[in-house]
Amino acid sequence: MTEAALIEMVEGKPAPMPLLAVQAFANTVDIEDESDRLESAESFERWLLDAGLVEPDHEIRPHHLRIARELRDTLRDNLASNSAGEPDPEAARKRAGTVQIELRPDEEGHLALDLSPAPSLAVLGSQLMAIAFQSQIEGTWERLKLCENPDCRWAFYDNSRNRSGSWCRMGLCGNRLKNRAYRERHRGEIAGSVTAAAVRPGRPPKGS
Ligand SMILES: [Zn+2]
Repeated sequence: MTEAALIEMVEGKPAPMPLLAVQAFANTVDIEDESDRLESAESFERWLLDAGLVEPDHEIRPHHLRIARELRDTLRDNLASNSAGEPDPEAARKRAGTVQIELRPDEEGHLALDLSPAPSLAVLGSQLMAIAFQSQIEGTWERLKLCENPDCRWAFYDNSRNRSGSWCRMGLCGNRLKNRAYRERHRGEIAGSVTAAAVRPGRPPKGS
């Protein structure tokens, strides 16, 4: 896993390693840009190599894409439940299953997950689940969330002291949503104070 490359991929608010790999994988889809790194075997292979998650000679085949998308959907469902602050047993059930992971000794003589580049997508899937499991034990898992802006849904790591962060970028998503909420709250008043012609068509004032 290449920390520098992963940090670049998540564009701010990075999770600590190795949870950062889960965050980057969840962000292989960009709703705002309408881009998806899992669009084709080639684009996914390029992404995996850039992230340092698979061995260089590992080849991605079209059927791998379906497996990877399912895994990503499951992880994103879990991050959505972290954002909502509500447990989602169904999302957790989809994540449960057989995980085969190798352990290796770390520098201090403790056992650690072997997160060297995976020889197969199945091993990578196990690694990502093992990272999620370890992160639950360490108490960092709930901090990995999806942005509450419905047009964004970017995975970010909530570093706030009371774990109350909601947006990937306060300056963009946070303010945009606050402005939208403000407009919606005041639409009735605004519509009442201007001529009907000035009200945007197709968006009638609240309560009409
Ligand atoms: Zn956002």
